Amino acid sequence: MIDIHCHILPGVDDGSADMKESLSMARKAVEAGITHLFATPHHLNEKYVNVKSNIIVRVVRLNESLKQNNIPLTIHLGQEVRIHRDIFTSLEKEEILTLNDNGTYLLLELPSGRVPTYTQEVIYELLLKGITPIIVHPERNKELIANHKLLFELVQEGALTQITSGSIIGKFGKSIQSFSNKIIQHNLAHFIATDAHNIGSRGFTLQQAYETISKVHGIECTFHFKENAEQLLKNQSPSVEKPVPFKKKILGIF
Ligand code: FE
Repeated sequence: MIDIHCHILPGVDDGSADMKESLSMARKAVEAGITHLFATPHHLNEKYVNVKSNIIVRVVRLNESLKQNNIPLTIHLGQEVRIHRDIFTSLEKEEILTLNDNGTYLLLELPSGRVPTYTQEVIYELLLKGITPIIVHPERNKELIANHKLLFELVQEGALTQITSGSIIGKFGKSIQSFSNKIIQHNLAHFIATDAHNIGSRGFTLQQAYETISKVHGIECTFHFKENAEQLLKNQSPSVEKPVPFKKKILGIF
């Protein structure tokens, strides 16, 4: 399996603390059936700055360590960029790293509590530059939970989304799990990824999530998500189905 979102690089953010922990995470990922993994450290969120050149060096180093330790896992380039007013300055300075550094797909993180007013503009500008933003874990964003229509609008505009495997299996609570299912039902989800930070509470639950998705939404749905992750690995376009709008709730009618 392929995991497109994970904090396995040592000592760069709130994920792995050091190389020893990164190797333990890698072993757990392999045990969980993962063969390819995109390392996506935080960038431009309030605490962490991880520019492209730095990530590239560290990914090379981690891949070397994996080889030396006979761990059959390949790490690919990535970055999780917090939506930020300086995102385009950072892009001009070549600090932004798209998945596989191919200039086409970028993991974009919203603040957990809200959707900034300039979100649609940032998505529009990125698309103009040929970069498709993949909004990570929209199911955990408080404003989107309260206003599903806004998520529909962002996807309609051309953004893709990634649901976190832990959300699907209920690790973040019932309401986030139920919103995750609604997002899938409305064709507003395009990828499932672990967003693993460690080998404990935020681990590699991709297989469990796919099993749950197969039960709730059918096995075809799981194939669809798996195929989309493979497409990214091959630098090809994932398949995107037409988003389904949320029905308006009419008072008194259930
Ligand atoms: Fe993350």
